[in-house]
Amino acid sequence: MSVQAVMAELPAIDWITDPALVRQRSRDFFWYSPVLKRQLNGVTAEAVACPRDEAEVIAIMAACVKHQVPLTPRGAGTGNYGQAMPLKGGVVLDLMGLNRVIWTKPGVVRAQAGIKLIDLDAITRREVRGELRFHPSTKRTASLGGFIAGGSSGIGSCTYGKLREPGNILGLRVVTMEAEPRVLELRGAEIDKANHAYGTNGIITELEMPLAPAWDWIDVLSEFPDTISAARFSEALVSSDGIVKKMAGVVAPGVAQRYFKPFLGILVPGTATSLAMVAEPFLELLPPLLARFGGRQIHAAPTEAAETPLYEFTWNHTTLQALKVDRGLTYLQTLFPAPHHFELVAKMDALFGDEVMQHLEFVRLNGVVSCFGLQLVRFTTEERLAEIIRIHEEAGAPIFNPHAFTLEEGGMKRIDSEQLDFKRIADPHGLLNPGKMIAWDDPDWTPERKRGFYLYGRADAP
Ligand code: FAD
Repeated sequence: MSVQAVMAELPAIDWITDPALVRQRSRDFFWYSPVLKRQLNGVTAEAVACPRDEAEVIAIMAACVKHQVPLTPRGAGTGNYGQAMPLKGGVVLDLMGLNRVIWTKPGVVRAQAGIKLIDLDAITRREVRGELRFHPSTKRTASLGGFIAGGSSGIGSCTYGKLREPGNILGLRVVTMEAEPRVLELRGAEIDKANHAYGTNGIITELEMPLAPAWDWIDVLSEFPDTISAARFSEALVSSDGIVKKMAGVVAPGVAQRYFKPFLGILVPGTATSLAMVAEPFLELLPPLLARFGGRQIHAAPTEAAETPLYEFTWNHTTLQALKVDRGLTYLQTLFPAPHHFELVAKMDALFGDEVMQHLEFVRLNGVVSCFGLQLVRFTTEERLAEIIRIHEEAGAPIFNPHAFTLEEGGMKRIDSEQLDFKRIADPHGLLNPGKMIAWDDPDWTPERKRGFYLYGRADAP
């Protein structure tokens, strides 16, 4: 492997080689997890390639195959699990230069992978009065390709579900990592081959996305006597199909009061807080719904006008706001399955108290209103973190482990054979983002059998 040989072959590409800059672009938000921080802190590439168009992407991929150099794609680097970190060095492929909208039409947009989500929404709003159905809370920084390759759901998922649900992505243009790279268009069920695959089996250069109507959104904060009342309100809001909304989250008493600095003046101690986004014409329907659950609106303002939009206090931004105040925190990602979701939340609350602070987001999963936890955890030791995870799972609340960097351990804890089969075709040398798909190295992996990190030469599995 020789990165130098790749660079020598492609002098017209914009290369970054300054070690400090390369290290910076070799990192993401992995440090949210103390486990990943310990494991990945030293990871860096040798160079960063910044292509300006698909032809340059293809040239870089072909040269990396020729010289057997690992290539790790990167959007804005806001992923939380070290997804965009080059475990085996080599080259980082920074796709932010591919930032054009190809076309828009009512209800649909086709754009390049590196476009920022906020720029994309501004263009589709202007041209076709549409916006992405849902976006991560990192909308102001993240890229479209990075969201599809590394994210899952977010603001708008209370209406439209997750990226994995059919219809939420219409097309992916993917370049294969072969001596002569091919350009493939994945549509329909084929999209799952590269959707949320961390860029391990192809580089996405263009995406076709469905749009939702663009409303004037209002940020709404409300207070409740306790977490479960706020959660019941959020569930009712998401179930109210006539009310157009984009977000319904809840934090336990004390969370907003400690960590949501801009709102400290209006938050009453000891109350739980709900965070919602509602389309302006429907705002008047909230007070009676709030009253049903003992709630009261304490803030309402246009999302567009806010210095910090309310969505930057939800999803994984809740964790970020808390980390700004207390670096000793980390988080979980939990499904509280219906119909016993509120019982489970209350049980975990009683068991862990202030060690695991409730933060819930309500989404529609395959048509069913569901409750996700992104709880804040007071970190003490890795052993205790593992124990907290085990206790949740044994109680019936599966954890999508944010303290693991492999696709399998962080996700469904099983091999995705469709993505593995596609990798065999699209990356036969195993050079794309190596180390992130356990199944590539160990097709018989099971969660009980081995941990991903063990495979990469370090025995200190999380
Ligand atoms: P990156 O982090 O750069 O990359 C993500 C993954 O995609 C990596 O594996 C990378 O190798 C791969 N990749 C990037 N571009 C391509 C490409 N063109 N082709 C193939 N592979 C590619 N996620 C959510 O889903 N919902 C949320 O609400 C959410 N909130 C967040 C809040 C905070 C504060 C933070 C730090 C993270 C949050 N995330 C969330 C995670 C992350 O921000 C999103 O998933 C985001 O969309 C990632 O985009 P990015 O451009 O930063 O991708």
